[in-house]
Formats: sequence, C-alpha cells, structure tokens
Amino acid sequence: MINPQAYALGANRSCIRELFEYGNKRAAIVGRENVYDYSLGNPSIPAPSQVDQTIRDILSDTDTLLVHGYTSAVGDAQTRQVIAEDLNSRYNAGVKPEELFIGSGAAPELVAVLRALTVPGSEILAIAPYFPEYKPFAESAGATFKVVPPDIPDFQVNLEKLAAMLTPNTAAIIINSPNNPSGVVYTRQTLEELGALLTKKGEEYGHPIYLISDEPYRELVYGDVEVPFVPTIYPNTVVCYSYSKSLSLPGERIGYVYVPSQAADSKALYAAVAGAARACGHVCAPSLLQKVIARCAHLRPDLEAYDRNRKALYEGLTAMGYEMAKPDGAFYLFIKAPGGDANAFSEKAKQKDLLLVPGDGFGCPGYFRICYCVSYEMIQRSLPVFAQLIAE
Ligand code: PLP
Repeated sequence: MINPQAYALGANRSCIRELFEYGNKRAAIVGRENVYDYSLGNPSIPAPSQVDQTIRDILSDTDTLLVHGYTSAVGDAQTRQVIAEDLNSRYNAGVKPEELFIGSGAAPELVAVLRALTVPGSEILAIAPYFPEYKPFAESAGATFKVVPPDIPDFQVNLEKLAAMLTPNTAAIIINSPNNPSGVVYTRQTLEELGALLTKKGEEYGHPIYLISDEPYRELVYGDVEVPFVPTIYPNTVVCYSYSKSLSLPGERIGYVYVPSQAADSKALYAAVAGAARACGHVCAPSLLQKVIARCAHLRPDLEAYDRNRKALYEGLTAMGYEMAKPDGAFYLFIKAPGGDANAFSEKAKQKDLLLVPGDGFGCPGYFRICYCVSYEMIQRSLPVFAQLIAE
C-alpha cells in the first residue's frame, strides 16, 4: 500500500515548479533571452567570495575526518557559539549556544518545530499571503492548518481576523518577515500588537500560543527599514533561520532553530524539536557547512543587485499603473492583477513568455508574485511586455 497523502504531495508538482519547467522548455524553443521568468526564488547573487574561500581553507587546514564526520545532532559546539555571538552583537538578545539547534535549512526546521508543537487537535495558523509549503508541513504533522485572511493593501497582519480565529486548540502561528511573497517587512508595531494579543489569549486559554518566526530573508532588507528580532518582542517565539538566501547557499542546506530560554517550557520544547527532527531522519546538519558558518556567520549579503532590480520593477510597474505594497525586503513583489483575476492574467502573460505566479497558492487570490532575483537585463526586456498587458 502506498500512502495516499505522500503520493499526492509527490505526484503534484507545485505551480511554481511547473512554471519554472515550462520556462526552461520555452527557452529551448524561443531562446533564453526571450523568456521572462519570474517564477523561482533561487538567489541570483553569488555567495560571498569569503564563503568559497572558507570552504577551500577548511578542506586544506582541517583533518578531513573532522570535516566530513558526524557532528552532534544538535550541531557543532563552535558553530552554535559563533551564531549566538553574532545574534547578540546585533540584537543584544542574550542568546546562548545551548538554545540553538543547527538544522538543514528553514524547511526541515519548520517541519521539526511544527511536529514538536502538535498534539491531537492542534491548530496551526498562517497569515496570508504565506509560503505554500507551510500547509503540507503542518498537515503532515497532524495539525489543522488555518489561514488568516490578508491585510490588504499593506500586507501587515489583520489582527482582528486573527483574533477571531484563535481557539483553545491554537498551538502556534507562523509568521514570515521579510515576507515571501509580498516583500513586506512587519513593523515593530505590528509585532508588538501581535505579541500582546497572543499573551492575552494564552493567559485566557491557560497555555502558551507559540509564534514560529520563519526568517530566511532576515538580512534581505533595503534602506534603513527595521527587521525587529521577534523573540525580544514576544518571548514564546521559536525562530527558524536559514542561510539559503542571506549567503546564497540554498543547495547547501544550513540554518538553525532558536528556542529562547524565556519561552514557556523551553527545555522541553528544545528537546521536542530535536526529537521531531530525529524522527524525520535528521542525523546532523551538513558538517562542512557547519564549519563554514562557524567562520562566516558574521557575513552579510551585498544587496546592490537586488536593490537595483527592486527599484527598476517597483518604479517601472507603478508608473504603468500596477498596484503593490511597498517591497522593503526579500526579493519579491506581490502585485494586484489588473482585472482582478490573477490566474487569467498570469495565463495571458504566459502567452507572451512572461512567467508570473498567481497568488492563490499563497492564500491570496487576485495577486501575482514576481521574484526579482533575475538579471537586470531581463527586467529591462520584460517591462514593455508588462506595459502591453496592462494596456490590454
Ligand atoms: N520559508 C520561506 C518563506 C521561504 O521562502 C523558503 C524558501 O524559499 C523557505 C522557508 C525554505 O528555505 P530553506 O532553503 O532554508 O529550506
């Protein structure tokens, strides 16, 4: 017998992957330069050169048995120490190495945290627009997945609607800021109000409501916009961090979970995260990459190329009449579909080899996502196509 749930997840490719594959097929026919592919969030700036150099250094200056050997399941001690120091130097948050669990990127970390927090009857809430993988992650943990409607047009958090959806079964809320797909950064005020609401409701229900802060884009922010460190605002926060985007290492699979000791039942929760990861087959995060992070955790991305793309698209499209929230972070724009039907609009765009992802999968119909980790030249070539589409 084959598990039908697992089959359905494996057999049905995501809409984003479908579009990406379609783009590759079209490129083979009409030429890569004639396809404007905004589908996939694969970083387009290279990893900092220090990362590549560090890999070479480690291979030449460290015993290879140590480089390639298993580490502790919760992560290499030196790596945890360095990450804690880096977080403390920025946020003065009192992070201790023993509160960090080194994982293989945000996706498996989210799976472990969701499983650690789910008991029969648990409900997990995400805020639209949200990263589509949250749904299978939460449902396969055994939770009921509920979506808080979007806060249009700013894409902060609709606290009234969120409050109405909380129940004594609410185990956790997942947030993601800077946000995929909207590019919006949640303000300190939004996070403080959210924290106050969860504190109040947690007291009413007699158990904590955890906030899972999914932060692969924390360092991808433009100008002087603040990205608050959520555990300093709401103590019952668990952070899932990844170096996939900040150091352009998505294929290398490295990140961490931070369970602050000020969170309710923090020791048990930390153990449950480690246990849930173990049950999913986690042995340790990639050993070489852990050693790289121990030497490179302080590096920040050079965002100049993304910022140039962001400005070209935001300014170009707004001037044509497209509407979107101000994209202060990540590398996405989430745009209101002219005519209101994002699927129809994306289909029309596809006919012109312009690949846009409709917002339905993000819990937000009527919008489409653009991923601007692409070449500046592609953006320039694509702008006339956007102009034709809105004129039609
Ligand atoms: N969360 C969000 C919001 C993402 O956009 C992504 C990847 O695109 C992930 C999690 C997964 O990231 P990782 O590569 O670290 O597993």
